[in-house]
Amino acid sequence: MFENKENRTELSELGEFGLIDHLAKHIGLSHPSTLKGIGDDAAVIDQGNGQVTLVTTDMLTEGVHFDLGYVPLKHLGYKAISVNLSDICAMNGRPAQVVVGLGLSNRFSLEAVEELYAGMKLACERYNVDLVGGDTTTSRAGLVLSITAIGTAAKNKVAYRSGAQENDIIILSGDLGGAYMGLQLLEREKEVFKANPSAQPDLEGFDYILERQLKPEPRLDIVELLDSLGIIPTSMIDVSDGLASEILHICKQSGYGADLYIEKIPLDPMTISTADAFNLEPVTCGMSGGEDYELLFTIKASDFEKLQNNPLITPIGHITGKGERARLITPQKEAIEITAQGWKHF
Ligand SMILES: [Mg+2]
Repeated sequence: MFENKENRTELSELGEFGLIDHLAKHIGLSHPSTLKGIGDDAAVIDQGNGQVTLVTTDMLTEGVHFDLGYVPLKHLGYKAISVNLSDICAMNGRPAQVVVGLGLSNRFSLEAVEELYAGMKLACERYNVDLVGGDTTTSRAGLVLSITAIGTAAKNKVAYRSGAQENDIIILSGDLGGAYMGLQLLEREKEVFKANPSAQPDLEGFDYILERQLKPEPRLDIVELLDSLGIIPTSMIDVSDGLASEILHICKQSGYGADLYIEKIPLDPMTISTADAFNLEPVTCGMSGGEDYELLFTIKASDFEKLQNNPLITPIGHITGKGERARLITPQKEAIEITAQGWKHF
């Protein structure tokens, strides 16, 4: 490696976002068609005809992002496509193509790879996306999946993380925390199975949260809903790392604060009851759990009437003043600062 021991910085000191910021500092953009590079859910490339191309990529590594001990390959294929399409939707765009890179060890048979592809194909068909190419290579560290999604949007309808303005309403699609509770359940059953391989997994009746973990759906329906109502979100991001982390991205890049109301954060009854059974705070699961792939966006207050009472979305707060912090407001009107790990008391 090109380093000496005295001059070594551990990647763990920077964290994922710190590393991205550090690398992005030294990347310049020279094409006028590159409207947005690193730093949003997808890159934005001007087509010159009022349309843009959106590009996003995501790598999934066995043992880090998924555990084949309880994730069926078909589900993994479906999820790998879904999470990439979600990033296209998070720009207020529509996905059109994917390219698939695959690293495989000799542990995998043709039948196993076919299962993986069957899942990818299902997601592509469901969202009308073409699988247009890719690459396969040998991996010594288990399965590696690298997927690039390409989408389109009208140039004037692209929703960046940076566009939120004071008094905008903060909206969330669907509900949160389910994917995290599904994961807790799968991890628990894995431990039970390790201790007693003849034990049958006790997963019955938990379909919703298991699907949230194993088979997330990109919210293309929300992009279409907003379009049909004539609403252009002022900012948007998808919830891959938890609401706390995502609202901080919007606040940081827009330069404003946000107030979110705890009692407005949508949680499914199954998420709440499972969290209770695991002695976890349900709201914490929603704030920090991640992998829900819902859309978090802001709209002008004047657009709110068009969305009011729509069952697909929940207003959860509003954007506050320039340079303000992101806060969680309790039912007792206590304000708690939101941090990337969740939130901390002042
Ligand atoms: Mg994203």
